[in-house]
Amino acid sequence: MKFHIETYGCQMNVADSELIHSILLDAGFQPADGLDDTDILLFNTCSVREHAEQRVLGRISNERYRKKAKPWFKIVLLGCMAQRIGQRLIEEDLGIDYAIGVDQYRALPHILAQETGSALDFDSKEVYEQLLPIHQGSRCAYVTIMRGCNNFCSYCIVPHVRGRERSRPYLDILHDVQSAVHNDMLDISLLGQNVNSFHSRDLSFPDLLQKISEDVPELYRLRFVTSHPKDLSDRLVEVMAINPKVCEHIHLPMQSGSNGILNRMNRSYTFEKYHGRIQALRNAIPHISITTDLIAGFPGETDAQFEETLKAMQEIEFDYAFCFKYSPRDGTEAASFEDQIPEALRLDRLQRMIELQRDITLRKFRAQIGKVVEVYVEDFSKKSKAQISGKTRDYKIAVLSGDESQIGKLVQTRVIDATAGTLICE
Ligand code: SF4
Repeated sequence: MKFHIETYGCQMNVADSELIHSILLDAGFQPADGLDDTDILLFNTCSVREHAEQRVLGRISNERYRKKAKPWFKIVLLGCMAQRIGQRLIEEDLGIDYAIGVDQYRALPHILAQETGSALDFDSKEVYEQLLPIHQGSRCAYVTIMRGCNNFCSYCIVPHVRGRERSRPYLDILHDVQSAVHNDMLDISLLGQNVNSFHSRDLSFPDLLQKISEDVPELYRLRFVTSHPKDLSDRLVEVMAINPKVCEHIHLPMQSGSNGILNRMNRSYTFEKYHGRIQALRNAIPHISITTDLIAGFPGETDAQFEETLKAMQEIEFDYAFCFKYSPRDGTEAASFEDQIPEALRLDRLQRMIELQRDITLRKFRAQIGKVVEVYVEDFSKKSKAQISGKTRDYKIAVLSGDESQIGKLVQTRVIDATAGTLICE
């Protein structure tokens, strides 16, 4: 039987799909050459926003026709959406044959041997110990170091669909990083929903960064995502500053610049505290690039509170911000708040946020013009095969002239122009 996995959502899902790929290969399944060649179509899904779930349902409805010509063709729902509503979707007869939750991937081959079915239990210990995912990404590897989240931010579905935090054993992480490095991947990102709360035996997250750097001498660039501001310790800032393998970038979701909203979001920090962490990072690593996530139109957000967020954005000047309008998710605390913001106002605020950030990003990217940067060339540019593209150490996309021979290499190049999102280099 041949399989194909479609992945939606965050890098955790990309990493999980690599793990699932490895589990299926071990069990004797084969990767398909495109959809027409597929017997088992797996959707690894995201529930963070309503839109992401609707896209998957649309895809499933487009693909179920294949069952007529191929009665053995199966559709499998994996990931957060399976965990959240998988059983119900099977019963609604939308064409889904199996729903497998985030802690049940080991059982996937066994479940696929049955006609239909689901496996959605949480397993508070499951970290897929001793399973090595097959990294299929371009030139960058994502290595999961912990799963789940204990924070219960009031808007977030993740703790409800991914369970509580548990960290992967060090030796598994080490083997995973070694295997990626031996496959010529020079840029490694450690992943977790709350990556800097990693703790395995006596090893804290800053210790982990140090230990991996020492134990894998060939490792070149090390990153991590996503960090929670409350777990950003002085020790982590210090390690980022002294360890030359750790890249000069951090993704640190702020979500809002208003203390009233941060409190209702259950984020466990104030804007002042968040800003203090940014200052500590910038004092220790002056050229660090800082990216963030922001939510517009959280329930009860007043005009004045929204303005506080815009002011915070101007004060901090993020290199980039992923801006979203608030999306209510059933089962989360914020979805039951009575003071929901009308959709039109949420959209309007989102637009203002995006426009402000675009100006800031453009200014910050243009400030790079004339500088020489190191780019890890990952592929041809999306627009033209006459150009190649990659990332700088501080996580900026760069496009430059070059050819296939440079893909997979590190190049030093001068920035000659910039847009709000791309450095144009020589
Ligand atoms: S830290 Fe908050 S936003 Fe991040 S995954 Fe956990 S609950 Fe969700």
